[in-house]
Amino acid sequence: MLVWVSLALFAVSCALSVRWMLVRVDSLGRVHGFPTIGVAASAGLAVLCAVPVVRTELFERRLDAAASELAGARVRVHCQTTGESFVHAGSEWGWVPTGSNGLPEKHTVLSKVACQHLASWIRSDHRSPTEKEVMAVHVLTHEAMHMKGMLNEAEAECAAMQRDARTAVLLGADQVDAVALAERYWQTIYPRVESGYSSPACVPGGELDERLPWPPWE
Ligand SMILES: [Zn+2]
Repeated sequence: MLVWVSLALFAVSCALSVRWMLVRVDSLGRVHGFPTIGVAASAGLAVLCAVPVVRTELFERRLDAAASELAGARVRVHCQTTGESFVHAGSEWGWVPTGSNGLPEKHTVLSKVACQHLASWIRSDHRSPTEKEVMAVHVLTHEAMHMKGMLNEAEAECAAMQRDARTAVLLGADQVDAVALAERYWQTIYPRVESGYSSPACVPGGELDERLPWPPWE
């Protein structure tokens, strides 16, 4: 929406300038001055409307880069807009559509709330994240596991927990804070996830333990 408002204001600014160039002298021979106020106001408002659009775009591209690294393929992350969040009835923080071939697609949508907590965590010093910030970082990892091709929720959840520290590093945390975030999810949030998301095989040495660096359970 803001993109169109910004483009419309920019068009107004251009139209005013072009009209001045074409009609600098009217039929009575009067010379018109450049419509500085009109052009400056419309151009300024166009820039103001474009700022949040550009900021969101840069944020999403940052999430793309981290998720692509985790998924091992080029994937896209979209943060729900305010309008999209109004019409979305679900309470989930992220989802990956399933393609006609039955496989997860290479793009995900994160809820507006998830993106807000991700953004606040990225802006922070990463030392003492809120529980929702921990969950938001984990949701990005979890959706990346779906985009990697995992359909089973418990497997995606377990694979994600073993990569949460990696996600945190990719988004700017140092190793100590990243591992602490992963451990916190494992210790305090994983025990409360819905039954379909947990597995008795998701334990140190268990069948789902991939023995990756920076596991959440050490
Ligand atoms: Zn899932």
